[in-house]
Amino acid sequence: MAHPVRTTESVLAQGLGRRDATGAFPAGISTGVTYVRDREYALPEGKAYYRDQGGPNLEHVEAVLAAIEHGTQALLLSSGMAASTAVLQALPPGSRVVVPEVMYFGLTRWLREFGAALDVVEVPTGDLDAIRGALAAAPTALVWVETPANPTWVITDVAAVAELAHRAGALLAVDNTVPTPIHTNPLRLGANIVMHSCTKYLNGHDDVTAGALVTDGSAPELWDRILLQRQLVGQVLGPLDAYLLLRGMRTLAARMRVISASAQAVAEHFAEHPAVERVAYPGLPGDPGHAVAARQMTGGFSGMLSIFVRGDRHTALATASRTRLFLPATSLGGTASLIEHRFTFEGANSRSPENMLRLSVGLERVDDLIADLEDALKGSGA
Ligand code: PLP
Repeated sequence: MAHPVRTTESVLAQGLGRRDATGAFPAGISTGVTYVRDREYALPEGKAYYRDQGGPNLEHVEAVLAAIEHGTQALLLSSGMAASTAVLQALPPGSRVVVPEVMYFGLTRWLREFGAALDVVEVPTGDLDAIRGALAAAPTALVWVETPANPTWVITDVAAVAELAHRAGALLAVDNTVPTPIHTNPLRLGANIVMHSCTKYLNGHDDVTAGALVTDGSAPELWDRILLQRQLVGQVLGPLDAYLLLRGMRTLAARMRVISASAQAVAEHFAEHPAVERVAYPGLPGDPGHAVAARQMTGGFSGMLSIFVRGDRHTALATASRTRLFLPATSLGGTASLIEHRFTFEGANSRSPENMLRLSVGLERVDDLIADLEDALKGSGA
């Protein structure tokens, strides 16, 4: 059989090869928000208004996202949170939703503050018996998982959860922000919808806020309501951000290769360090999620890890403030490595351990990153 020339890496490198009417590659930015009717008062392209039907840049990046996640359709929204909440708000009121006990803090917070229309059940999604129990307790509309889960990188077995969810008549949505389509394709493991904060690895340069949803076409009713939600609420991504996002995505495969290899090296180096209690990273053989992650993730374990320092909150904060290369900042997935004390960022309701530092490994030389952390842990830093 002929080699499939449109593998993920090749689709990304060329952005599906789209050029504009002059033949210029890559195609430029089209900013119009309205579409002019013809002499018959018809809409030549079937589009009337950007908020409702989008435009060429949006459609182009959505086609690339659908291709790299092996889905049939994608939707771009104004942030990862806009994408996640569009799914949850598209569910009929009263729907039961099973969500992870540990996941991106913003979504936990949204569910607590604005999720009253839903019956939300929090479970440790790394534990299949807990999911089985939650699904047996009452009819469930949707299971939401995030793997590896921010910020402790707990692994959920997507294929096993998909089977449990479908047997119980529920759909499965997966936040695939951290693995990216380079390391995991949840739709191929049985998920119905994939969500990305494109703000992170997909854009990869800390200069775009965006979110995406991709479906394999197996949940058409929910998907139609998500699209209606985007049309009526208006959290559609603008053309300039869509253009910039694709510019970032074109190097995704190459970035993830370096980032995942560096994160693995950093995790291994500090796993046995005297100033470190433990390192959470699914690429470490001793990590509780390693066996499932090794099966589910291909080519690496992404760039996120957490270091639990020996000591307390003050030890962790002092370490984070002594790094010279790791930038002390929130977010993840960019070219610049970041270090963050999640407990401080998340505030009063944080479930993050106080001695934990979250690292987003970027594209700096890995020896530099290790030396920087060594110095910061030693307290020298100068
Ligand atoms: N999902 C994960 C795993 C995240 O880390 C984040 C943000 O940090 C989000 C979703 C939300 O994305 P955004 O900041 O683009 O709204």
